[in-house]
Amino acid sequence: RETGNDDEAIHFFSASTHHDLDERLAIEAQLRRALERQEFRLEYQPKVNIADGRIVGFEALLRWANPMLGEVSPVRFIPIAERTGLIIAIGAWVLEETCRQMRSWTARTGVPVKVAVNLSPRQFHQKDLLPSIRDCVGRWGVPPGSLELEITETALVSREQEVDVLMRGIRALGVELSIDDFGTGYSSLAYLKRFPVQRLKIDRTFIRDLGQDDDSAAIVHSVISLARNLKLAVVAEGVETEEQLAMLREMQCDEFQGFLFSRAVSADQVMALLEANKSLA
Ligand code: C2E
Ligand code: MG
Ligand code: MG
Ligand code: MG
Repeated sequence: RETGNDDEAIHFFSASTHHDLDERLAIEAQLRRALERQEFRLEYQPKVNIADGRIVGFEALLRWANPMLGEVSPVRFIPIAERTGLIIAIGAWVLEETCRQMRSWTARTGVPVKVAVNLSPRQFHQKDLLPSIRDCVGRWGVPPGSLELEITETALVSREQEVDVLMRGIRALGVELSIDDFGTGYSSLAYLKRFPVQRLKIDRTFIRDLGQDDDSAAIVHSVISLARNLKLAVVAEGVETEEQLAMLREMQCDEFQGFLFSRAVSADQVMALLEANKSLA
């Protein structure tokens, strides 16, 4: 839980730990039944080309509505799913649902739609990941190049040899890879060269401070230059203002996601966005 200042954190320490623990236990108990009760759904946030303003793809984001807890943010339940191992089954559902949806959009629009799926570290290190991706993509007839997997830096710091083999296997399928939340983990720039990734997503915290704080602007600028030199595409996350977008355009960032263009929307709303996109041509 984030608190505004340290005094407050100390003051509420004992009360809030009990409350947090209760909440975590409640989430965990409900999470165990959420799949079979069909409480999950996906929403999709557009990713936009900065140069021409067109949608280039979407990121699938998991949503959970539970009768007892209401709408629970993935920021709350994903870490619990990760810790309990429930993420394996939930992640398999996300992949399946994404591929099913991609096929349905393509059937309706006639063009492949690119979608990125988030993988948590535990999912990424799970043994059958590669065969399960191959199987899912094959069953739904999804062009592998339309699917992208987003992995955070924390999934990459251990077992480098294994990670390298796995990433090459994913690339051999034709599926793309991106590094999510870039800049927040224990970034080692060396792995950008070693691992076969196509895209970097600059974390929202750096974008938020663009225009307020020179350090963030310097960091964003460096990451974009680095990505260009390594021939990686670069995406800015969490763009909320025209000012941020103008700065990113100036810095030659390739793509952005953010509330400025659109929040994550339902599968039906994606169809409407794709129609509007077509008429932009
Ligand atoms: P993420 O992968 O970095 O996803 C981006 C998050 O930033 C999303 O939050 C999105 O709604 C939010 N966002 C996008 N644009 C803006 C903006 O302009 N302003 C602000 N304030 N926020 C913006 P969301 O959907 O709550 O997801 C949070 C995190 O939960 C994700 O971060 C990802 O790490 C995790 N997550 C979501 N879905 C899945 C999933 O299917 N599997 C796994 N393993 N993790 C997921
Ligand atoms: Mg992501
Ligand atoms: Mg991200
Ligand atoms: Mg993020």
